[in-house]
Amino acid sequence: MQCPCGSNISFKKCCFLFINQEAQALSPEQLMRSRYSAYATKSADYIYNTYAESSRAYQSLTDIFAWAKDTKWLKLTINSASEYTEIKIKRSANADINEDKSNTVCFSAYYQHQDAYFIMKETSRFIVEDNQWRYLDGEVSINEELPTPKRNELCFCHSNKKFKQCCGS
Ligand SMILES: [Zn+2]
Ligand SMILES: [Zn+2]
Repeated sequence: MQCPCGSNISFKKCCFLFINQEAQALSPEQLMRSRYSAYATKSADYIYNTYAESSRAYQSLTDIFAWAKDTKWLKLTINSASEYTEIKIKRSANADINEDKSNTVCFSAYYQHQDAYFIMKETSRFIVEDNQWRYLDGEVSINEELPTPKRNELCFCHSNKKFKQCCGS
């Protein structure tokens, strides 16, 4: 199975490593991608555990699971992301990285809920806690239903493929 995050490599060699705790996300973008793949594979525990502690208080595993269960995630596009390396994570232990507005990832995600298709755009904020990247919160700028294309029309996700061979397959 190809990784849901759109990396074009297999899930086992990509986001699964983070979800299965075999590797640690080294940048906000890696964490964002792995959380998307966790939604796509309904790994509610991982989504819950990668919330920042202050945000986790407002989350429940049941709600995350219910939302993941009823939603089919079709495509992720990263629009922009701040770059971080492992070294910067370590430095951030004593730096006030939480104040740094550059720890963000802007993305678009396409999803199907019941029989309707949607696009959402979000700017997510990330912080380092316990020397790990965590998701703090996000500002959703768009979350709207898309008209369902005909089977032979181009897909709404800009893949240049027919809908029936892409998100509608
Ligand atoms: Zn991935
Ligand atoms: Zn598509």
